[in-house]
Amino acid sequence: MLPLAELELGPRADYDPSVPAPLVSVSVDLDAIACYHRIHALDEVPDGEARFAILRRALPRLGELFAKHGIRATLFAVGRDLEEDAEGARILADLAKAGHEIASHSYSHLYDLVRRPREEMAAEIDRAHAAIAAVAGRAPVGFRAPGYEISAGLIDLLCERGYRYDSSTFPAIPYYLAKAAVMAAMRLSGRKSSSILGSARVLGAPCAPYRPAAGAPYRRGDLPIVELPITVTPGLRLHVIGTTLVISPEWLRRRLAASALGTKHFNLELHGIDLADGEADGILAALARRQPDLRVPLARKRAALERTLGEAQAAGARFLTLAEAATEFAH
Ligand SMILES: [Zn+2]
Repeated sequence: MLPLAELELGPRADYDPSVPAPLVSVSVDLDAIACYHRIHALDEVPDGEARFAILRRALPRLGELFAKHGIRATLFAVGRDLEEDAEGARILADLAKAGHEIASHSYSHLYDLVRRPREEMAAEIDRAHAAIAAVAGRAPVGFRAPGYEISAGLIDLLCERGYRYDSSTFPAIPYYLAKAAVMAAMRLSGRKSSSILGSARVLGAPCAPYRPAAGAPYRRGDLPIVELPITVTPGLRLHVIGTTLVISPEWLRRRLAASALGTKHFNLELHGIDLADGEADGILAALARRQPDLRVPLARKRAALERTLGEAQAAGARFLTLAEAATEFAH
């Protein structure tokens, strides 16, 4: 840990007042703990507190964080979780009433969604659409694919349904390489992750919002949908997402945040698990051994996110939901 005095350095020192105000969107993928068990091929199914920990425990903490900073966020809900957890659905409904956007993270969070037949992909979008509209009181206009994997067929289905944006493109080089390495290691040890490694074409995708091309979702084109990539730094394409911010040492977190604030659209993706409390929320130690962020104390994770939002505000950021960003970048 750095000494407090160093942490309290004014964030303004990093910014040039001649640079236009950053546009920032904060979104949260509400993947249940069971999703992480599937990624890491853990046999146990989460039960007790852990089963609903994301919607019931982590989501209210995120809601408080956003309220404190006066930010309206975009919350990507998994349709089936809302049907199975009435209490969690109520918490989400209250956040919708408070002005947060509720968008779709598919019906059952299949990591290999894009490898399923077209009818199954369509059903995943449509069932989530209905479940989210019923809870939020408003139909979703945006989508984020499980595991960030999109395909031309998936984008086509979203266009057919009038979705205004997709926000799944994640052109992060170290993330892609790390995922490939972890999946190879798991295969070698005989464990099978539910996750899939998609096309490396994503690494050449635009890093700023764009309209995708028909048949080539990672190229610019003129489809009637906006792709809002998750932010990576210019050059090295390091990912600036909640998980990296909460596990990075403070000096690195500050640099990542400053770099992201210099991009055209800081699309900050968080996960519900970023504000999970491994022990208090009943999360299995076996999962915490595989997820370094679960070993970071909640207070420290919250502080990392608070500082990042505070730095954005000090830089004069304008906060937009992703639906609002899609309007902003539609032309
Ligand atoms: Zn997810």
